[in-house]
Amino acid sequence: MNPPTRRKLFIPGPVEVRPEVRERMSQPLIGHRGTEMTDLLNRIRPRLRTLMSTRNEVLVGTCSGSGLLEAAVRNLVKQRCLALTCGAFSERWAQIARDCGREVQVVPAEWGEPNLPDVLRTHLGGGDYEAVLVVHNESSTGLTNPLSDIATVLRDFPDVLFLVDAVTSLGGLPLEVDTLGIDVAIASAQKALALPPGIALASVSERAFERAGAVTGRGFYLDFLRMRSSAEKGQTPSTPSIPHLFALDLQLDDILSEGLEQRWKRHAALGARCRTWAQERFALFPHKGYESNTLTCVRNSRGVEVHRMRRALASRGFVISDGYGKLRQQTFRIGHMGDLTENELQELLDVIDEVLEKL
Ligand SMILES: *Cc1c(COP(=O)(O)O)cnc(C)c1O
Repeated sequence: MNPPTRRKLFIPGPVEVRPEVRERMSQPLIGHRGTEMTDLLNRIRPRLRTLMSTRNEVLVGTCSGSGLLEAAVRNLVKQRCLALTCGAFSERWAQIARDCGREVQVVPAEWGEPNLPDVLRTHLGGGDYEAVLVVHNESSTGLTNPLSDIATVLRDFPDVLFLVDAVTSLGGLPLEVDTLGIDVAIASAQKALALPPGIALASVSERAFERAGAVTGRGFYLDFLRMRSSAEKGQTPSTPSIPHLFALDLQLDDILSEGLEQRWKRHAALGARCRTWAQERFALFPHKGYESNTLTCVRNSRGVEVHRMRRALASRGFVISDGYGKLRQQTFRIGHMGDLTENELQELLDVIDEVLEKL
């Protein structure tokens, strides 16, 4: 069988993974109970804290981000939580919590609108919630929520845990966990961290661990307390995806040597460039001022046949995404997160221009 044709990914995950990172994954395996593994885990652990600007423990789960989104609910919510929704991924987290048997008060914003702090304040004042679920960067609508304003509200409700889906923000958008007082921030490997899918990260605050101690039925595989006690010993509770840990080890070096601030700036420049392009040809979907710098959700104002555009792009070696769910026809999405350069993005935008002329 021939290998699949090489195509460059500009989708909101999985994203392009540099060849060095892919090669690192194919290095010979080590046992997961030996000293080499402990050394590896002990090297990774402090740099994950730097990556997330936190002193909290950062757990590594062998699962995609959804595994830890579910784990956060199972570990930290006994009965009731509040979910801010503004698109497909935030709605899905609320659904995950319901599927875990929790009572979920949903506070919705229209798709394309942000979750606003005043709305949250009103709802928190009227209810008794153990936690609030917020998506930092809503990948279905290309919107970044005003996380620091939301954090300000939550400071006035110290008993309510602040749980954040940072899946398409960590590694691309500023996310300072301790400054914002985030109890749990969750990220997937295959988004702005530019690793292959298969592992996920969660920073967990001390008070969240305490809360977990009072929750029964946390499960086994993603029990935060069991994961922490292993992490403290330089171990994992079960066999991890060892190749992913090799890749994470390398990628942490590269991310931190680029520098977090520089990485955020690069993503801001990628976002700005993509928006300028999109506005000259189409329009933007999310509310002005809340557009994401890791992906752009373009309003299909010219009514182009997105599936034809995507097919023509694929034949030239580029992949972008169509709209998500109910936005399938109305929008399309360009992911620009991870290790991408402005030149690489420009190359894609030039090819889309060529394709548009011929559609
Ligand atoms: C991709 C994505 C998820 C799901 O993450 P998986 O790693 O695929 O489980 C959740 N939230 C957001 C915002 C996403 O973009």
